[in-house]
Amino acid sequence: MKKVVKFGGSSLASAEQFEKVGAIIRAEESRKYVVPSAPGKRFSGDTKVTDMLYGCYAVAEKGNDFADLLDGIQTRYNEIITGLKLDLSLDKEFEVIYENFKNKAGSDYAASRGEYLNGIIMANYLGYEFIDAAEVIFFDEEGRFDDVRTNEVLSAKLEKIERAVIPGFYGAMPDGSIKTFSRGGSDLTGSIVAKAAKVDVYENWTDVSGFMIADPRIINNPKTIEAITYKELRELSYMGATVLHEDAIFPIRKEGIPINIRNTNAPEDKGTLIVEATCRHPKYTITGIAGKQGFASITIEKAMMNSEVGFCRKVLQVFEDNGISIEHMPSGIDTMTVFVHQSEFEEKEQEVIAGIHQAVQPDSIDLESDLSLIAIVGRGMRAKRGTSGRVFSALAHAHVNVKMIDQGSSELNIVVGVRNHDFENAIRALYDIFVTTRL
Ligand code: ASP
Repeated sequence: MKKVVKFGGSSLASAEQFEKVGAIIRAEESRKYVVPSAPGKRFSGDTKVTDMLYGCYAVAEKGNDFADLLDGIQTRYNEIITGLKLDLSLDKEFEVIYENFKNKAGSDYAASRGEYLNGIIMANYLGYEFIDAAEVIFFDEEGRFDDVRTNEVLSAKLEKIERAVIPGFYGAMPDGSIKTFSRGGSDLTGSIVAKAAKVDVYENWTDVSGFMIADPRIINNPKTIEAITYKELRELSYMGATVLHEDAIFPIRKEGIPINIRNTNAPEDKGTLIVEATCRHPKYTITGIAGKQGFASITIEKAMMNSEVGFCRKVLQVFEDNGISIEHMPSGIDTMTVFVHQSEFEEKEQEVIAGIHQAVQPDSIDLESDLSLIAIVGRGMRAKRGTSGRVFSALAHAHVNVKMIDQGSSELNIVVGVRNHDFENAIRALYDIFVTTRL
């Protein structure tokens, strides 16, 4: 058994957190490859080291004195080193970083030092080999992640090394300069290492015990999802549920490597298992509920629209020409409705209306704003009759008016549109019927 273990910033924010991580790694022989993030927040209101690095570099780039800011960052690391009683000094590393900041090595380089330095500490603490991600993770000339080259170099390297620490979040461009993934990108590094090392499980350790069925800011103490498929996860993440970086499943989705989300502060919890497919029946009909606020809808009405070839295409072209992406598009016989992000739409509202008039000469165009979309997601819905019936009766009982319904033909999700002010009420009603009363 071989595992990659990735630890998020809050799991590595202090010496105390490092000790918990050390105990987790030592508890299982199989935890051979470790991917650390940069130190995160130690308490609410604290600053992540990555943000300190971005801030410090912004000052350096303007040619101003950044020595004190960089000292503040070194202090964060020194506190961890002292707390762990390690025989390690990062002075030399910080001299190099100081010089590179002065020479404007770039904000990606700056941010990447957060995981690089944490990786050095972690390797020293565990007695594992340190592998600089710049030597094994590559981007192409256009700055896209180079999957083929990375996998070739990294798997050859890991074959020879039994236990290693590979810092998350960054890699190298063809000219050797440093490039990072987008924020939260250490999750991706974990997947990349999991694929190259052909591990059995990718454990992603964070500060929650997995994915919750619904947002804990709306539902008090929601249940955790035990197992979720990549597809379900994609639907829920798209709708705003965040625990894992959205792209983290791509490197391993074809490898059949499950991701196990675990909690560093509650290692006994099993967390959530993310898998390609499973015959494990979900405990509830639905796997999860997620939603987003701030949508607008544009309803276009025209008698006999359905017999007009190219009608939809012409309408959609207007949105494309104005750079507005479309979220959902339910339609009736003589109407079609387009859901868009309100903030994107507001700026171009009048151009879009004029464009639609010119393109298809509708009878009327109706706009509605302050709408929310809620996705009810679950592989279990396929096998059960009446799920949509239960969705709508729950919402009706909660006095929520449903503005739109969209069920994908995969039967994996039902999306409903409601007013923003009904958003939380609707989520509570749905959670109640599917989870609390377990219908
Ligand atoms: N440290 C980086 C960030 O704050 C990357 C990561 O933690 O995954 O976004």
